[in-house]
Amino acid sequence: MIGATSMSAAKLTFDERGLIPVVVQDRLTGEVRMVAWANAEALRHTDETRQATFWSRSRAELWVKGATSGHVMTVHDILVDCDGDTLLYLVDAAGPSCHTGAESCFFTPLHEVDAPAARAPFSLKLEGEIASRRHATGKASYVKSLLDGGAEAIGAKVREEADEFARALDAEADDRVSSEAADLLFHVLVGLESRGLRLRQVLATLAKRFGRGGHEEKASRAKP
Ligand SMILES: [Zn+2]
Repeated sequence: MIGATSMSAAKLTFDERGLIPVVVQDRLTGEVRMVAWANAEALRHTDETRQATFWSRSRAELWVKGATSGHVMTVHDILVDCDGDTLLYLVDAAGPSCHTGAESCFFTPLHEVDAPAARAPFSLKLEGEIASRRHATGKASYVKSLLDGGAEAIGAKVREEADEFARALDAEADDRVSSEAADLLFHVLVGLESRGLRLRQVLATLAKRFGRGGHEEKASRAKP
């Protein structure tokens, strides 16, 4: 959790320029959004305001992410790596993180230069694949046929797969449970795509129910 304990619990090693690299990860999807540098002041500012703050090496000044674009990053937790020389900010991002407009800076595969934008982690890649099938031309697409069939077609598959999952849970081997869960999740993702909803929104709903962020915890602790 953010707060005095996180600052004092870990010993940090800044490099000879007084900087430490910061990996920024979406706390819900696990997507790595960007990497930047912080100095002690940027880290303190982040810790106190919960707004991801870095040190711009090119402008030689503190840089609150999103100060001009509005795409701020609310920091829920700050983790320190095992030898104290790298930080991880776990964030909720208000918009794209990359100056190119991409959600993440990491969209370029090393080898497949002509490939469409890559996404990591796999859950987002899968979501993107499903979305891309909506306008698929050429060879027949199972996902497109479901999307064309709308709520009725997708709902029927979700019910069918949910029932198969329930039966596997009851009486089948682990690999069958896993396989049926995969089928169910896949069709749930197709259903979300049919409504233009993102997996991230679902995860945010879950996070709201099952976990309180550092800010809420801090706020509740601050109450008299
Ligand atoms: Zn970028």
